[in-house]
Amino acid sequence: METGYRKFARQEVLYPLFRGVDTLKGIGGRLSKIIGKRIGDYVIDLTRHAPHSLIRRHLRENLAVIKDGEVVTLLLTPTRHDRPADRNSRRPTRVFCDHDGGQVELVFFHAKGDYLARALPLNQPRYVSGRAEWYQQKLQIAHPDYITATLEEIPKNEPIYALTAGLTAKPLNKAIAAALDLVPSLPEWIDADIKTRFGWEDWDVAMRALHRPTQEAELHPEHPIRMRLAYDELLANQLALAMVRVSSTQGKGRVFAGAGELRQKLLDTIPFALTQAQTRVIGEISADQTTEKRMLRLLQGDVGSGKTLVAVMAMLNVVESGAQAAIIAPTEILARQHHDSISKMLEPLGIKPCLLVGRMKAKETREAHSAIAEGGARVIIGTHALIAEKTQFHDLGLVVIDEQHRFGVRQRLILGDKGSAVDVLAMTATPIPRSLAMTAYGDLDNSILDEKPAGRAPITTTAMPIARIDDVVARLRQTASPTQKVYWVCPLIEESDKIDVAAAEARFTELSASLPALNPRLLHGRMKSDAREDAMHAFRHGTTHLLVATSLIEVGVDIPEASIMIIESAERFGLAQLHQLRGRVGRGGAQSSCVLLYRAPLGEVARARLAIMRESNDGFRIATEDMRLRGPGEVLGEKQSGDPEFMLANLAYHEDLLSLAHNQAQDIIKTDSTLTAEQHQAQRILMALFERDRAVAYLAGG
Ligand code: ADP
Ligand code: MG
Repeated sequence: METGYRKFARQEVLYPLFRGVDTLKGIGGRLSKIIGKRIGDYVIDLTRHAPHSLIRRHLRENLAVIKDGEVVTLLLTPTRHDRPADRNSRRPTRVFCDHDGGQVELVFFHAKGDYLARALPLNQPRYVSGRAEWYQQKLQIAHPDYITATLEEIPKNEPIYALTAGLTAKPLNKAIAAALDLVPSLPEWIDADIKTRFGWEDWDVAMRALHRPTQEAELHPEHPIRMRLAYDELLANQLALAMVRVSSTQGKGRVFAGAGELRQKLLDTIPFALTQAQTRVIGEISADQTTEKRMLRLLQGDVGSGKTLVAVMAMLNVVESGAQAAIIAPTEILARQHHDSISKMLEPLGIKPCLLVGRMKAKETREAHSAIAEGGARVIIGTHALIAEKTQFHDLGLVVIDEQHRFGVRQRLILGDKGSAVDVLAMTATPIPRSLAMTAYGDLDNSILDEKPAGRAPITTTAMPIARIDDVVARLRQTASPTQKVYWVCPLIEESDKIDVAAAEARFTELSASLPALNPRLLHGRMKSDAREDAMHAFRHGTTHLLVATSLIEVGVDIPEASIMIIESAERFGLAQLHQLRGRVGRGGAQSSCVLLYRAPLGEVARARLAIMRESNDGFRIATEDMRLRGPGEVLGEKQSGDPEFMLANLAYHEDLLSLAHNQAQDIIKTDSTLTAEQHQAQRILMALFERDRAVAYLAGG
């Protein structure tokens, strides 16, 4: 197949943007390293680092109306320097100043040498700009940002960028200004009608304007400058997806039209009836399977909606047709759980699923590999180990990707390459709003399980500060009956799983002492896999009624008797994750509850998250809110390195732009699926600008 995108040598006009940050004037090695790590190695990355707020440093005259914490510029006349005699003193140096009859105090810690004497000579007016604070009825500015002799030297409007350790505002501003000087004018890739309709500027003009806001309104995602740049991102993404889609569906898919005897047998043996939604979705999948079209389908269903059974039905069709079907899960616990439950389901059918996970005995691994390669294994269940090169399939016809948001694009594609024209069924319990599904997967077909099995009572959710942990423990002591099971999820500390583990161990020790009757067990990622399985087993089948765990149990764990979920440091989890965790309960008929323990004080976003959790059990609503609160990247999960995330596009605001970009991309790709035609030169530049050319080349097997 022709892969024209590999011919996308980077166009010369873009060279300046892909120069290293270290080639910018005045940017030293140390600074360029930090910028490289936090923002990116290239000039283009700096230009995309958009300011998140704006400081307006307008000259103020009336001290009385200045609010605490406001950034102001004042004309001050220093009248006295008060410097601690002892140079090592912790006491700050103070410079007292007159302001039109009033007084302002400038405060400096560790002032060096005679810097202050030179910068603020006595009785000479100076413009001083910084954050003003009221302290005992006096106005103070600690470490002003600017001290100048003329007003012109102070920027009236100063864009503020996200900073990180080692990167301060001044050098970053300088680097960005230098980067902007290199922004070239580029041919227009946006459809002329769209550009006119919104009154958008050219790309280079918008790029510079992005960094020079003069009003708050310009920072809003719906300001034309940001809209235009967001559209660029969306269009590049949609073009890439459309191209991948064309290449991956070009070859014919396989036809799987089994006789249905295995599927019928399964339906006869399960102790419940399918929900209507399950029946519908099973039909949608089987329609894909029986046509020559290659299946690329996303199955969305809230936690507990019964996706596993749908997947097994699809797999059985493939098995009936003589090929292999595999299901891949993001964690070993989940893979083993699937293996257990699917083994039980398939036992009456005489099918023994094969398990392949990372931590198995060498002999088991060897046996699994050969059964998979020789075709003896028909239903295969595993983790990332399935992706490994060593794992060769005899005749893989279908992969089911469970909790697909945990996998990257790359992994999904490798899996699809493990056979010829492998059908892909990607499942997610974190429902993805339609718009996001479109960006992430282009035209992936969509199936939705929008109904839960009958008889599930909604979960009651409460939030309380961690200070009330004793109440929670006391309540558990009273209410936990011998049939109830409780999950206790310990804080997620992102920096290190070591700390997570320590926190879980400490909590486990405490709870073992205070709730001995529940016979607590501990579960975390650093335990040996035998020990973990043992703990899960005790919780599932044994005398353990309290499982103290890290967020490891987040996805998929299915223990219907569990009815109480306690989540510590709930403020640290994202909404989607909280919903996933909560979804571990409410799976049986019992009334279930979820307690969100948080550490006060709560930030604004965390407060909003917990409020949504209390109000809603609806995964779709939660996913939409999550996107609003955190931006789409987080909803999708893992960020792919080398695959630039959206910087400006935010689907909470730009959904309409997404469908415009989608349509424009479709129009282009319809006639020129490799984007090689002369009239699409501008779009090729766009792809290179967002480095989608590389992604496409990879995705297309280039
Ligand atoms: P999820 O969609 O979260 O992956 P599962 O597939 O794990 O959900 O199913 C959750 C539970 O519901 C399992 O215990 C499963 O056996 C059960 N289940 C699935 N379908 C039905 C149904 N139609 N009626 C009753 N229970 C069902
Ligand atoms: Mg599941």
